[in-house]
Amino acid sequence: MEMFLKRAYAEIHLDRARRNMDKIKSLLKDGSELAVVVKANAYGHDDESMALCFQEAGVRWFAVSNIHEAQRLRRCGIQGEILILGYTAPEYAGELSKDRLISTVVSMEHAEALSQEAVQRNVQVRCHGAVDSGMGRIGVPASPPEQCAQELTRISRLPGMKLEGIFTHFACADSGSPEDQEYTRAQRDSFLRACELLKQNGVELEHCHFCNSAGGTYYADGRSTLARFGVMLYGLCPNPELELPFPLEQVMELKAEVSQVKWVEKGAYLSYGRTYQAQEPRRIATVTIGYADGYSRLLSSKGEILLHGKRAPVVGRVCMDQLLADVTGIPEAKAGDIATLIGQDGLERITADDLAARYGTIGYEVVCGISKRIPRIIMDGDKILRVLEY
Ligand SMILES: *Cc1c(COP(=O)(O)O)cnc(C)c1O
Repeated sequence: MEMFLKRAYAEIHLDRARRNMDKIKSLLKDGSELAVVVKANAYGHDDESMALCFQEAGVRWFAVSNIHEAQRLRRCGIQGEILILGYTAPEYAGELSKDRLISTVVSMEHAEALSQEAVQRNVQVRCHGAVDSGMGRIGVPASPPEQCAQELTRISRLPGMKLEGIFTHFACADSGSPEDQEYTRAQRDSFLRACELLKQNGVELEHCHFCNSAGGTYYADGRSTLARFGVMLYGLCPNPELELPFPLEQVMELKAEVSQVKWVEKGAYLSYGRTYQAQEPRRIATVTIGYADGYSRLLSSKGEILLHGKRAPVVGRVCMDQLLADVTGIPEAKAGDIATLIGQDGLERITADDLAARYGTIGYEVVCGISKRIPRIIMDGDKILRVLEY
C-alpha cells in the first residue's frame, strides 16, 4: 500500500461509480449512447482514473470542458471519442486534429475562424455545433429554426471543418415546476425542429444530442443520440429535491485526522472572530482540514462531521487548514481519529448534496471545489489502487 499523508484525503470509490453507471445505462432509450462527462477533473474525482474506469467498462464517449482536459485524456490512454463541450480558440486547430478531438463550435464567427486556421494548417477539424435553445450561453440560436438550420448548413460546408453533430443544453431539466418543464420541452422541440430542417437541407449528421443528467433522467429520449451524464455518475443528484428512479452511491468520501481533543470552559471563545462561545463546558476536537482544502468557510458553525458513527457540529469559523467540532456527545473521540466530512460512518452519512444545502450551493460545487492539496486515494472495493498527489 502506498503511503500518503493522512492529514486530509479523498477516497474515490471506482466500484461505486461503475454501479452508478450501470443504473444510468438502464435509463437510456434505444438510439441513445452514454457519454461520460469527466470535465473539471471528473468533478474533483480524478479524470484519468474515472475515464479509464469507464473505458474499461465499455464507454466510448467522453466529454470535457476544454482542450487541455481532452489532451490529458488522450495522453492517459483514452481511445474513444472526446468531445470538448466548451470553447476552443481557433489557434488550436492543429492540436484538435492531431488528437482526433471533437471541438464544439459556439457561433458562426467561431466556425469561420476555426475553418480558416484549419485550412492554413492543412488539417480537418471535427466538430459538433452548439445550438442555443434557451440556455443563453453558447451556440447558434435555435429560433427561428429556418435560420438556425441555414447557419449550421453553412458551417457544415466550411473548408477544413467536419460537422459531425449538433447539440443543445437544457437550462432547467432538473426542475419539477410545470413552467420549467414546459420550457425544457420547448427547448427540446425547437432543437429537434432545427435537426429536421438540417436533414432536409441534405446535411447528414451522426449525432444530435440534448440530454444531461437531469435531461436523461426526466426526459429520456432516443432522439438524443448521446446522453451526456456527469454529476450522477459520481453519485450526486442534479436536484436533491427531485427524486431519482434509484439510489446512487456517492463516489467520493472526504476524511481528515483529529489532531487534538480537549475540554473548554464555559464562556470560552473558539476560532477566528470569536463567533462561537461555549455556553457550558464542551469537548472540542480539532480536525486537520480547512477552506484551503475546499471545505468551505461558509460552513463555519454550519457543517457537521462524523466521528465514531456519530454527528458532531462544526463550531466557530472554518480556518484555512483546520476546523473545530463539538464532540461532547462522543466520549470515544481522541487525537488520531479519522473524521468523515463527506461520506458514511456507521449508520450516519453526509452527502455532498447535504453539505451544499447547508451553505446555499449545489453538490457540484462542493465536489469540484475539493482542492488539489487533497490527495485522491483511488479505490476498488476495499483495495487501494493508487494514491494521487497533485
Ligand atoms: C457539464 C455538462 C453536462 C453534464 O451535466 P450534469 O448535470 O453533470 O449531468 C452535459 N452537457 C453539457 C453541455 C455540460 O456542460
